[in-house]
Amino acid sequence: MDLMNYINGRFQAHSGDEWLEVLEPATGRQFARVPLSSPSDVDSAVLAARDAQAGWREASQSERADWLDKIADELESRYEDIASLESRDTGKPISLARAVDAHRSVSNFRFFAEMVREHQGEVFEMPDATNFVTHKPVGVGALITPWNLPLYLLSWKVAPAIGMGNTVVCKPSELTPMTANLLMEVVDKVGLPPGVINLVHGDGRGAGSTLVSHRDVDLVSFTGGTLTGSKVAEAAAPQFKKISLELGGKNSSIVLDDCDIDLAVKGVVRSGFMNQGQVCLCGSRVLVQDGIYDLFVGRFIEEVESMKIGDPSDEQTELGALISAEHLKKVEGYIELAKEEGGTVLTGGYPCLPKPLAGGNWIAPTVVSGLKTDSRCSTEEIFGPVVTVHRFHDDEEAVRIANNTRYGLAGSVWTGDTSRGKKVADSIHTGMVWVNTWLHRDLRAPFGGVGDSGVGREGGKWSLGFFSEATNVCVKHD
Ligand code: NAP
Repeated sequence: MDLMNYINGRFQAHSGDEWLEVLEPATGRQFARVPLSSPSDVDSAVLAARDAQAGWREASQSERADWLDKIADELESRYEDIASLESRDTGKPISLARAVDAHRSVSNFRFFAEMVREHQGEVFEMPDATNFVTHKPVGVGALITPWNLPLYLLSWKVAPAIGMGNTVVCKPSELTPMTANLLMEVVDKVGLPPGVINLVHGDGRGAGSTLVSHRDVDLVSFTGGTLTGSKVAEAAAPQFKKISLELGGKNSSIVLDDCDIDLAVKGVVRSGFMNQGQVCLCGSRVLVQDGIYDLFVGRFIEEVESMKIGDPSDEQTELGALISAEHLKKVEGYIELAKEEGGTVLTGGYPCLPKPLAGGNWIAPTVVSGLKTDSRCSTEEIFGPVVTVHRFHDDEEAVRIANNTRYGLAGSVWTGDTSRGKKVADSIHTGMVWVNTWLHRDLRAPFGGVGDSGVGREGGKWSLGFFSEATNVCVKHD
């Protein structure tokens, strides 16, 4: 299957003749090709978005909200397609692709339809004047997304961006282009005005960087790795583009000695290994209080070893393949490093799988103990099914360890005393912390990190704020 760019309301061939292979992570087999788009393809997409600006920004909020609902309806009718394409493209279990990716892609459009419909400006009265604050579109947006949650994250940007009157050019990861293509099919089917949403396939260094530094792009919303984020920021800064960066994480799960062990074991396993540990929010360093360390770690290992790893299309599968051979190599490198750093691998290795899966990117969930809390493996983002476990004495020490990393995205605290949990959570320098749960999302709440985890917030009114320019008109009373 050869994919095409979607520009100005039409699927279009790219200008060159170079292609990128799309491989199935579970088998290593090629199943599609994406265009390696050139700067002139990016130009065409940006021009289409620019031309569509005038008409789209004039549409009322409720008209734009209606379009978001139409997209949500059509996406919902293709729920199973989203799940199966995402599972095949990323190697994640079909049950996860259904419950998380398909579900959130639809609900992102529905949620922002409602928010945009209800969004109102503000009025600030002074004794002698009135301030009228309105939110105007920024202009043309570049939306760049990673491979771990492809449509989930793309829809999280597209919906508020176009809802607030911007037009956009999307650049999904070359590794997982299938559901971005599906979204363009949906946009085409519902008849969204041409140029409002455009899609350019290609690699990050080519299409991605051309898009970010394009003169006619007014804002950049980027989700991806920290290193790439710094390059994106560098390219966008000289032109003073509005920029949002959602980057990597090294998140702690803190298990206090008064926790409900059953709940904590299940929660910490889910947080450590969902999507093979390839979620920016994954709790990849597990900090356990002295008094329950042996009990908890024993139960934790049992639970990890009971997870079913294998064919992503099997409904029973809980863990699938890693995204690419290159990424697998990186993860294996960290496991080797963990041993060099003095760690003990408590469980891990390679799963025994049927022949058709032999060419895939497989590794068993791995747990390492005995590492120093400032070792590279326990402070750097591995972004795979590798969790390090550490012992702590009291709440202050847990907080100190959790804060001992340059990242600041998320964390979780497991305790029988929610006020103790809240106090610990408040001391952690991250954008988000969960107490006795993980990845429990209210879409109105802010999402984002501090430090090397990024700049800015997404979610609810924060997304609407980023994708608009607040403008004040101050009228002096007669
Ligand atoms: P990545 O390598 O940084 O790539 C992210 C996106 O940027 C891809 O579309 C990539 O295109 C593109 N890109 C690469 N170089 C670029 C450049 N110079 N200019 C513009 N775009 C460029 O990240 P990834 O490996 O796909 O994703 C994993 C990372 O994302 C992890 O660090 C994870 O923590 C982070 N993440 C963060 C969040 C969050 O909300 N904070 C959510 C999910 C993931 P190609 O892939 O085609 O090269």
